Amino acid sequence: MEVRELQRLIKETYFERDWERGVEKNNLWLVEEVGELTRAIRKGRRLEIEEEFADVLAWLLSLANVLGVDVEAAFLKKYGDGCPRCGGKPCRC
Ligand SMILES: [Mg+2]
Ligand SMILES: [Zn+2]
Repeated sequence: MEVRELQRLIKETYFERDWERGVEKNNLWLVEEVGELTRAIRKGRRLEIEEEFADVLAWLLSLANVLGVDVEAAFLKKYGDGCPRCGGKPCRC
């Protein structure tokens, strides 16, 4: 699955509720999940870390759906040719 397909999957699954929740609350959930990922990393628990990565990505995609952002397109536009500053792969900044 590519990022665009993942975003579509999250849209099919959650868009109605995400839309009703709105941008601000979706953003708060994303931040909450980043906090959970941080705690999982601190504890060094592999399974939890993987689960929290899934949560962070799911909420990021939910927020993007509500804002009408195509994450794959936005990402490729900025990082598709390597480092946006120096153009290097790897970055030489
Ligand atoms: Mg979580
Ligand atoms: Zn660079």
